[in-house]
Amino acid sequence: MTVFDHPEFDRHQTVAHCHDAASGLHAIIAIHDTRLGPALGGCRMWAYDSEQAALTDVLRLAKGMTYKAALAGLPFGGGKSVIIGDPRQAKSEALLRAMGRAVDRLGGAYIVAEDVGIGTADVVTMAQETGHVAGLPGQGGDPSPATAYGVYLGIRAAVSYRLGRNSLDGVRVAVQGLGHVGRSVCERLAADGARLVVADLNPQALEQAAAVHGAQIAAPEAIHAADVDVYSPCALGAVANDETIPAMRATVVAGSANNQLAEPRHGAALAARGILYAPDYAINAGGIINIAHEPWHSGKPYYRDAAFADVARIHDTLLEIFGEATAAGIPTHEAADRIAERRLAAA
Ligand code: NAD
Repeated sequence: MTVFDHPEFDRHQTVAHCHDAASGLHAIIAIHDTRLGPALGGCRMWAYDSEQAALTDVLRLAKGMTYKAALAGLPFGGGKSVIIGDPRQAKSEALLRAMGRAVDRLGGAYIVAEDVGIGTADVVTMAQETGHVAGLPGQGGDPSPATAYGVYLGIRAAVSYRLGRNSLDGVRVAVQGLGHVGRSVCERLAADGARLVVADLNPQALEQAAAVHGAQIAAPEAIHAADVDVYSPCALGAVANDETIPAMRATVVAGSANNQLAEPRHGAALAARGILYAPDYAINAGGIINIAHEPWHSGKPYYRDAAFADVARIHDTLLEIFGEATAAGIPTHEAADRIAERRLAAA
């Protein structure tokens, strides 16, 4: 199958296959759209079963980044890269530097950052070969606190829209996943008086949430059905599916996890059950908004307060999405796409 025939191909501007014999690099860089600015997106290293599987991932993820940046009101386009290989075995300085050179050959049309299998130290290695990198240490740093702040504000927006409550005091929230983002979301929710139900695979994280926030513990396979007002998925994707949606008791789904809808039709299934869904790529944009405040882009030192003030826009973006969905009688994920597409068309 060629790139142009691929089901995930959707007018991507550039799809570059990158090879370096000396280091064993096999990578694909996809630039979906640069109408709003250079394509920003992480580099994922994964032991894909085939080149086709890697191509599917990179095409889909690059397009997702176009929509995410547009909806967040950022001057970035959408791109992504994948390195084919097991990061625990195949990663080396030579391979990462070869990837840096591949990014550099695109002349700034693509800006690389970390992703699954590629950490900050790996991006630092790539930066020896190219200046087109984001998320270097000493700049914006770990994006998770900014992401968590956006998720917290997104939950507040959804609670005010769906439940008519302007405070989280006494609101029951089930948080799935107590990792970098989920833990910080819990802290903010608890500080506002929310009552927490939590699930994780890590018993220590659960014990801490119970001890510090008085959180109730739920089984990982049952957290989506907890008797709460808000279900906040902060671990895995595909959590809204044919099995989970009928069992949900929350009337708001709002969390950081990527690709929460197993399929697009599950957005309509949530709406049909009267569940307000905060589209994942709108509510979890805090990290990318934070990146826009890094010196490589802003030309100024990174100021956390300024970055977080910008992240706060997520609250109003979500209210805009909810309002458009209600007015047009469409699910919220479609309303989000429409708003992003309008911004792209206007660019
Ligand atoms: P993380 O790896 O730090 O945390 C994930 C947590 O989920 C871990 O504590 C893990 O034990 C737990 N978990 C895994 N499987 C689980 C299950 N079945 N049930 C309950 N808990 C489970 O990841 P993170 O950085 O906190 O990100 C969380 C989600 O948000 C991911 O989907 C990620 O893609 C998305 N996201 C993160 C950021 C960011 O800035 N970190 C930005 C955008 C989106």
